[in-house]
Amino acid sequence: MPFSRLGLSSPIVNALTELEYTTPTEIQKQAIPVVLSGKNVIAAAQTGTGKTASFVLPLLEKLCAIEKDEERKLRGKRIRALILTPTRELAMQVEASIAQYGKYLNLTSMAMYGGTEIGPQKQQLIWGVDILVATPGRLLDMTHQRAVNFDQLEAFVLDEADRMLDMGFIDDINKIIERLPSQRQNLLFSATISNDVRALAKRTISHAEELSVVKNSASKPKIEQWLVTVDKTNKSALLSFLIKEQQWQQALIFIETKHGAAKLVSQLEKRGIKAESIHSGRTQTVREQILADFKSGKINFLVATGIAARGIDIGELSRVVNYDLPDKADDYIHRIGRTGRAGQSGVAVSLVAKDNFRNLCAIESRLGHIIERKVFEEFPVKKVVPVSILNYVPKNKRP
Ligand code: AMP
Repeated sequence: MPFSRLGLSSPIVNALTELEYTTPTEIQKQAIPVVLSGKNVIAAAQTGTGKTASFVLPLLEKLCAIEKDEERKLRGKRIRALILTPTRELAMQVEASIAQYGKYLNLTSMAMYGGTEIGPQKQQLIWGVDILVATPGRLLDMTHQRAVNFDQLEAFVLDEADRMLDMGFIDDINKIIERLPSQRQNLLFSATISNDVRALAKRTISHAEELSVVKNSASKPKIEQWLVTVDKTNKSALLSFLIKEQQWQQALIFIETKHGAAKLVSQLEKRGIKAESIHSGRTQTVREQILADFKSGKINFLVATGIAARGIDIGELSRVVNYDLPDKADDYIHRIGRTGRAGQSGVAVSLVAKDNFRNLCAIESRLGHIIERKVFEEFPVKKVVPVSILNYVPKNKRP
């Protein structure tokens, strides 16, 4: 089915053709007509399923259709669509998609996030922004300073809602929602619809159409998962061994702490593997440069803390490594969603030490299966990691 059949007009379809998007993904097929019809949507869709385009494309279509009927006038500070994202990286990425998909439209967009000067962002709002992609903290700041006005807002999108809640943005989100006009279209996207997400949706969205592609295996990216059990002290040696032995070309490596990230980069370098790291201790400019170098292939191995890596979109990424397993099973799902994007195959490798056994149980219980274990005889394990019990319930969730 071509995009034009979903109700998108030629300026948008032409931009998609240039990007070589030939067929809509499952979530796009489901969401685009519903969003175009003006309904509210709650969608369970992971990163990698094409979820960004599933809300950006119909929003562009709707905003430009209204635009055609009216004289185009600059509406300083008055935005028409608001997309909230948990991180600045994701905000930048979503805005970049808007610019790409909307390149033949006369609409303006902007990514707004903290950690950078506020002045230029305020100025851009005064010049006029149709679609604002923002992180909650900076947006609240702007509203307190009356730099942004919501009275002409038509649509509100909460992207990666589960992650926003995990990151503790609930109060900020509530404060922002209080300021929005009650007549608006609401779209909520989340990798998983947990009880907390459902509660948030219930408070803010009435009569929503529920969409889900999570359980549809046809639309799931193909991700091969395997793990190696390892003694903690051998992790960096094992990682270097895997990179060399299996001739990995590129990997995004997740690690727990920023100190750990810096240490791992130097351990890899000692073994002749050039790597870089992104974490909260690095400036925005440095992070952006490193990300650009990773995307262009100048840097092959990128070590990232979970939060810094959130929202990274690298079309060709073939491999993610959990150097440290995440505490939450949902984070594991998000992380492996970094690879195998839009139907391409990918590999997710985890290095698991005995201390991580509980996390492993939670992850494998969430997946509903045991992850394949590979053994490398060069790395015998002293502290054995037992096989998981699949009905594991974390302590704080036990009845
Ligand atoms: P997302 O799930 O929004 O993070 O998108 C994952 C990746 O798939 C991004 O790199 C998009 O550029 C790409 N993508 C989205 N929709 C399509 C499509 N219909 N055909 C090909 N690639 C797509």
